[in-house]
Amino acid sequence: MPHRAFSHELVDRLARAQHVAALTGAGISAESGIPTFRDPGGLWEQFKPEELANVQAFLRNPKLVQAWYTHRRNVALEKAPNPGHKALVELEGLVPDFLLITQNVDHLHQRAGSKRMAELHGNITRSYCIDCGKTATEQEMTPIASGGVAQCSACGGYIRPDVVWFGEMLPEGVMEWAGEAAQRAEVFLSIGTSAVVYPAAGLPLLAKEGGAYVAEINIEASAIAGYVDEVVLGKAGEVLPALVQAVREKRA
Ligand SMILES: [Zn+2]
Repeated sequence: MPHRAFSHELVDRLARAQHVAALTGAGISAESGIPTFRDPGGLWEQFKPEELANVQAFLRNPKLVQAWYTHRRNVALEKAPNPGHKALVELEGLVPDFLLITQNVDHLHQRAGSKRMAELHGNITRSYCIDCGKTATEQEMTPIASGGVAQCSACGGYIRPDVVWFGEMLPEGVMEWAGEAAQRAEVFLSIGTSAVVYPAAGLPLLAKEGGAYVAEINIEASAIAGYVDEVVLGKAGEVLPALVQAVREKRA
């Protein structure tokens, strides 16, 4: 049954575990104030994310899509990692084999200090040339600020954000990496994710099949709540610091 406190069992298992994986989603970002970009009143209100976050929209109007991502990047940079992000950095330091798997593109985990990460949907702070694949430099991105279009200095191709758009495959190898970590995990944490977007949604179940103790930490029970070992209802920024502190005391 969902409850508001984590169990002793979860603490004990995390304290003993050699292999742990954690999956994070939009919930942990929302706690830092990252908007869903469906917020009314903004400059971008007239657009739906799915209308801009796809390759057809980009090819039709690269300038528009580049400007939207520059806006999103700037919004993300104004926000700060929260105690949930920081607790995951600490957990990485406590567990010998820890992988953080994230669906978020906002770079908050990295800014908090997480190192070993599988970015399932890319990262909004990086961009690359859609034609030759070269990573974009700050210099190449500068025209966007003055209403221009960012193009590759090597081949002239348009520069796109390094994120997975609707209808695109995940970056090569990253899902396999995440899947292996889930299967090997003794404890798997599913944090702030509605667990409905595949293939990420399959990871907690893959972990469960592999013998992991699976705990969901979310403000509401998700679609997988009935399949996991434990559901902790609450904010990542409140549950995780307390959980990691209990684990640290037990490991010491
Ligand atoms: Zn190029």
